[in-house]
Amino acid sequence: MKSGTKHLLLSAVILTMLLLLAAVNANGQSTHTGSPKLILQITVDQLRGDMPASVYDRLGKGGFRYLYEKGVVYENAHHRHANTETVVGHATLATGADPADHGMIANLWFDQELGRVVYNIEDDRYSLVGEGGGVDKDVEMDPTQKVARSDGRSPANILTTTFSDELALRTNGKAKIFGVSVKDRGAVPMAGHAGKAFWFSKAKGEFVTSTYYYDAYPGWVTEWNQKKPALAYADKSWELMHDRSTYTYGDFDDMPWETNVPGYGVVFPHPFGKGDGKMFTTLLTVSPAGDELTLEFAKALIVGEKLGQDEVPDYLSISFSATDYIGHTFGPASLESEDNLLRLDKTLSDLFAFIDQQVGLDHTLIVLSADHGAAEAPAQLNGFGIDARIFEPDKLDKEAAIETIKAKYGIAEELVSGFDHPYLYLDHDVLRKHKLDAGEVSRAIAAELTKFEGVAYAVPSIDLIEGKMPDTRLYRQILRNFNPKRSGDIYLVLEPQWFVAEFDGLTVTSTHGSPWRYDTFVPMIFVGNGLSARNFFREVQTVDIALTLSKYLKLKAPSGASGAPLMEVLSQ
Ligand SMILES: [Zn+2]
Repeated sequence: MKSGTKHLLLSAVILTMLLLLAAVNANGQSTHTGSPKLILQITVDQLRGDMPASVYDRLGKGGFRYLYEKGVVYENAHHRHANTETVVGHATLATGADPADHGMIANLWFDQELGRVVYNIEDDRYSLVGEGGGVDKDVEMDPTQKVARSDGRSPANILTTTFSDELALRTNGKAKIFGVSVKDRGAVPMAGHAGKAFWFSKAKGEFVTSTYYYDAYPGWVTEWNQKKPALAYADKSWELMHDRSTYTYGDFDDMPWETNVPGYGVVFPHPFGKGDGKMFTTLLTVSPAGDELTLEFAKALIVGEKLGQDEVPDYLSISFSATDYIGHTFGPASLESEDNLLRLDKTLSDLFAFIDQQVGLDHTLIVLSADHGAAEAPAQLNGFGIDARIFEPDKLDKEAAIETIKAKYGIAEELVSGFDHPYLYLDHDVLRKHKLDAGEVSRAIAAELTKFEGVAYAVPSIDLIEGKMPDTRLYRQILRNFNPKRSGDIYLVLEPQWFVAEFDGLTVTSTHGSPWRYDTFVPMIFVGNGLSARNFFREVQTVDIALTLSKYLKLKAPSGASGAPLMEVLSQ
């Protein structure tokens, strides 16, 4: 090749590169519209990453389609911690930190100082506003609440700051910050320490908050509750939205693995019963009605608190819980879950239309994700030839292997003080009494547990502390879950498709909580405020969200944030 031709080619290449750079730049200038007026963080409890695609052909216009067709879509987003439970996922989305750092390592954990199991955000210093204390007794579908000694709630147990905290600090409290959910643990982590949270009390059928946030309810809350919106569902039923023949699971409504809640049944229509029925408000939460009520409350909040009306960005988190309750009860691959997705799409569409009218979607940055995914019901998996089974952790202490170890160390007492998913806790009083080294005993027990059928790994915490662990994805997930003050002695990982049928003390159809991909996989979409639609298939992690939001608003990172900023959201 002549040198002249070479130069010509080189110039052409350089010119093309410059043009490409200019295009990116021009694109950046044309789409960057500055700070949003509202950051809306939506979390759908138990929305596995592929679920919206499973009903995509039947979605309406303004809900999921707005997100997927106008947004920056990450098609391969995962939680990177091991314990895929509700409060763990929410706190991770809020803080951008791993559970090891934000401290929400499980929905429940054994508090060594208190000598009892605690519920993640319980705080008896801050009872419900207007209440003298006591416990929300209606715990049929949510027995985690049984553990809590009081209905007091606060974010005090969350050890690092959230994105919303950083927004509060930057604006010296001028940014309005709110978290709303049916579940207290879906609302509190997102509002952070500086914002305010509201959740649904099944005992009262109303949205409530604690004295951590308010001395008295704001007028708009009292007004909303006084209208008793839940009672609109009295004597009604959850019915299919469309013709049965249009559903993938239309002919599979009555499946033997579904949980038969008395009076509610396993087939459509599902009656809510009388408004004063013992299970009435609980059943609402196991239906799309739970999300519809959350939506209506959020609308009242947007108007009542004048969100997104000035130049200071406000933050609203809405966590929709129905997908999770319905998934646990009927399975995530059921006619109920299918109808719920279509109704959730309608709820989202309604929400976005309302935001557009009140604030403008052009001025609203929306990010949607989930606290965890889910697996299909074990019997359903078996029907496809996939070996799925139930593991019973309650039997652990009685098992011969553990008995052998107890005999070896001369222990007659119960050695395993409890199994609170995912940790096995040894009784340290017994260990002290026998002058035994906790690390040595937990290693010996873990080695035995690993031999049990259904156990993939039993990881003694001492191995994490001493750095004696292989550098694999799974071990890194467990390490990110390890907080020395709250984690137990042994982390139990079951084989893929092995489940503990009891979740939070309730017998369920299907569950989540494992480090396997069906539980870590979640949607992750940013849309609005000038972002242009693109899809990405590389793996990203949920810890990236809070840091990306912080960079987007040029705030400092939340104190434990350890993800990476997502360039596609920031640099266009
Ligand atoms: Zn759940």
